[in-house]
Amino acid sequence: MLPLSVLERAASEMTNYQRSGMSVMEMSHRSKVYDNLINNVEASLRRSIGIPDNYKVMFLQGGGTQQFSSVPANLMKTGKADYALSGYFSTKAAQEAEKFGKVSIAASSKEDKFTYVPQQDQLELDPTADYFYICSNNTIYGTEWKYVPNTGNVPVVADMSSNILSKPINVSDYGLIFAGAQKNMGPAGVTLVIVRDDLLGNIDPKMPVLMDYKLMADKNSMYNTPPTYGIYILGLVYDWIENTIGGVAEMEKHNIKKASILYDYLDNSKLFAPTADKRDRSMMNATFRTGNDELDAKFVKGAADLGMSNLKGHRVVGGMRASIYNAMPIEGIEKLVSYMEKFEKENR
Ligand SMILES: *Cc1c(COP(=O)(O)O)cnc(C)c1O
Repeated sequence: MLPLSVLERAASEMTNYQRSGMSVMEMSHRSKVYDNLINNVEASLRRSIGIPDNYKVMFLQGGGTQQFSSVPANLMKTGKADYALSGYFSTKAAQEAEKFGKVSIAASSKEDKFTYVPQQDQLELDPTADYFYICSNNTIYGTEWKYVPNTGNVPVVADMSSNILSKPINVSDYGLIFAGAQKNMGPAGVTLVIVRDDLLGNIDPKMPVLMDYKLMADKNSMYNTPPTYGIYILGLVYDWIENTIGGVAEMEKHNIKKASILYDYLDNSKLFAPTADKRDRSMMNATFRTGNDELDAKFVKGAADLGMSNLKGHRVVGGMRASIYNAMPIEGIEKLVSYMEKFEKENR
């Protein structure tokens, strides 16, 4: 979900953006007013997460999945990279990277159904790899990397699609961060890429032009038409985090509070069991199940009847998943937990 205030502001500016006489949807991306808009969106993001000057920010298309190809195409300078498999999307990313060079699996929790995140002492890292790849929040399995791997000089690449802006991060711990917008920032169609500038410029010239990070960075994401309206909504969300919430550190406090209410209940429930290891539980996606598929289905249906949608777990894992992204208010969690309590009483 997006913050209601963001949607309302977008609605109020829908037909006439800041007296331009136009909707953002109607604007030329080469116009002065749009140029201002995109620069302000970037500046606001830079303030929110503290992006150092030697990092480029890009707003691209193709979703998170496009980055599974763009990352190896741009960063596999010597043709090899380490990947940690901690869930569905890191596995997909590693499979795609194999088209571009040698992929070594530095660690995997697949044998344990991705219920945990590999820890530092489990990582088999190649000090000469071009990068080490992680998915920082495993959207489907409900686990989250609670530490940034120590890789020496090897740049860490992180897919933050489902936990970007949920908590403060230290950008300089990473060589590259990317995130599809649609989980925690805005509408589908925009993908944010933050990359350290010394990693640019190594792409094979035969690669599609739109995959070339250096080109896209040099052109301020506007080599061709960027996803203009989506970028505008990102700006409203960044503004909401900065000015309504009070920054990402405050955002994290809200998120901790929200996740604790749900996990505390789950830890004490005699019906529902959380599926991820306690140490690695995600603050954004809480996965749980009753152990009985029919009861799970009944729970999901009952929730939908009360206006709580999308509680069904991803098709690859089943069970339930509560995605409690930034914009989910605490009242949303309280409503869910009170429904769970009632359901537990009636179905034990
Ligand atoms: C949803 C998701 C993706 C895939 O994003 P698309 O924009 O659909 O390609 C990739 N990584 C993570 C962590 C996700 O949650």
